[in-house]
Amino acid sequence: MFHWITQALGRAPAPLPDVPPETWARVEARLPFLDFLPVQDRPALRDIACRFIASKQFHGAHEMVLDDDMLLEIALQACLPVLKLGLDWYDGWVGVVIYPGDFLVPRQTVDDAGVVHEYAEPLMGEAWSGGPVVLSWQPDAQAADGINVVIHEFAHKLDMRNGEPDGLPPLHEGMSVQRWAQVWSSAYEGFCAEVDAGVDTGIDPYAAESPAEFFAVMSECFFEIPDLVQDTWPGLYGELALFYRQDPAPRARALFPPTPQAPR
Ligand SMILES: [Zn+2]
Repeated sequence: MFHWITQALGRAPAPLPDVPPETWARVEARLPFLDFLPVQDRPALRDIACRFIASKQFHGAHEMVLDDDMLLEIALQACLPVLKLGLDWYDGWVGVVIYPGDFLVPRQTVDDAGVVHEYAEPLMGEAWSGGPVVLSWQPDAQAADGINVVIHEFAHKLDMRNGEPDGLPPLHEGMSVQRWAQVWSSAYEGFCAEVDAGVDTGIDPYAAESPAEFFAVMSECFFEIPDLVQDTWPGLYGELALFYRQDPAPRARALFPPTPQAPR
């Protein structure tokens, strides 16, 4: 274990980690969708990942022991969305809590009769406004399949920068809130109708939960299966490309040609 990880555990700020190239290669091999980045962007992603590790506090829950590879893997995924935005988009909070697998969150609902029901909801991740990001550790290598709990929760963090998560993060100069709202609401309505009709969209149906979840799930998909997003919702892909200032679809298409023999 490197010196820097012991400092990253529960204390901040730690010095920037000095990561050997073979460690980067080993960790990045578990994240095939990083290949959708232009090759020249990889050093910048590594750099922002190191600064992320140095600026956040990492806690293993339930005696989960975090090792260097895990921190790097989480940091690379967390930083992919802000690679072209800047790490200050994650300012205002410091904690990243990692559970060994899904975790249970106590919930309460009140039914129509006013009766309070308490239950435990199993979650893979949760982002708290002004507080930590909670993640479950997924030990299997990530596939480029549109499911990415780290990108999902950090997309919520971006969405929370202008208040409660609602699927509308702060947009950049030159982007139109009106256009964003129009593109997203029409895609969301269409998606919900397909989910209600039992259509297999290839996208996690949890996205139909709310506009905020739709944005988080579509952010996962934008980085993992960008070609599918662009083919299905070209306008929404365009808005995501403007927001994240990235365009992963062409490289995804080149790496995963759309033939029946090339399952994702
Ligand atoms: Zn969510």
